[in-house]
Amino acid sequence: KIINFSPGPSKLPEEVVAKVQEELINYQGTGISIMEMSHRSPEFMQIVTNAQKEIQQLLNIPANYSILFMVGGGTGQFAAVPLNLMHSGGKAVYLNTGIWSSKAAKEASKYGHVVEIKPDLETSSEIKWDLDPDVSYFYYCSNETVQGVELPCIPDTHGIPLVADMSSNILTKDFDITKFSLVFAGAQKNIGPAGITLVIIRSDLLGTPSPFCPTILNYTVMAKENSLHNTPACFSLYVMALVFKWITQQGGVKVMEQRSASKSQMIYEVVDNSNGFYSCPVPASVRSRVTIPFRIQQGNEELEKEFVDEAKRLNMIQLKGHRSVGGIRASLYNAVTVEEVAILVNFMKDFMKSKLQ
Ligand code: PLP
Repeated sequence: KIINFSPGPSKLPEEVVAKVQEELINYQGTGISIMEMSHRSPEFMQIVTNAQKEIQQLLNIPANYSILFMVGGGTGQFAAVPLNLMHSGGKAVYLNTGIWSSKAAKEASKYGHVVEIKPDLETSSEIKWDLDPDVSYFYYCSNETVQGVELPCIPDTHGIPLVADMSSNILTKDFDITKFSLVFAGAQKNIGPAGITLVIIRSDLLGTPSPFCPTILNYTVMAKENSLHNTPACFSLYVMALVFKWITQQGGVKVMEQRSASKSQMIYEVVDNSNGFYSCPVPASVRSRVTIPFRIQQGNEELEKEFVDEAKRLNMIQLKGHRSVGGIRASLYNAVTVEEVAILVNFMKDFMKSKLQ
């Protein structure tokens, strides 16, 4: 059996895959597949409504928020956020904690003035910034998938609308949605296949998009038309709805959070007790629970390649670190089980032992 540690698109819950297989060519007695069904059909509209209800309950989303399903992935949102929220000739603050927030800031700077701040992750996870009431929003990435940096707390923006890219840690941890004006997440890590993006936006932020905002990225249009202005990514949305239901059946976000804490602790324990054989480049206070990068002998590329190859031979795939940082990365999203992580942990111990003999 393959154990998939991919950073995304990543493993889907086995129960969800089984359900998709069961319904693939005949969705609930309709005689056709979801892939062949009109997005205006009552069956598909029901899927959209169910997905909204399920995520609304999972995250305890109040009625003054709109839940949208959009296309264009996280990268699409890098443009959608400023095009919808940055007032003309406006300004926004971007917290730069790694590759994804940096890409978002670069995209936003096409549309307005971006003030980038870089927190010192080494000394403090507390974010200090000069409060400027003129900024349209404060943006951050709650989990930097490549660097493995996850902020443990929600930044206090003193009333300035807070926007978060939660692509790689949404539904792995309970959080208070009312602290946010907008949250978005590409589905392909924790909530489904690629092609669909979840956007949760406080309704008072709707209604003032830039005149240049493409309709496809326009939150106001999408909210008014219940995400069905045009043809959505039907199949991806259907699978995402199944993933939401699966999380509910497993016990909700709190259970995902407990599992996430256990799984990540298992890996960090081996790293921290390896006498430097393994090392994690991220300061302990901001270590991610979901995307864990580590090095072998401070970056011995030969040994790291051997580790990845040997793991693959044992059916553990996608452990190679991102090309920009190298090393190893274990992505432990919701569908990856504690048992699968235990197999990886045993392999890490065995590998170390064999090299230290
Ligand atoms: N934001 C984060 C945190 C990501 O990890 C990624 C992709 O891995 C993106 C945004 C970009 O998402 P997409 O590939 O859907 O555009």
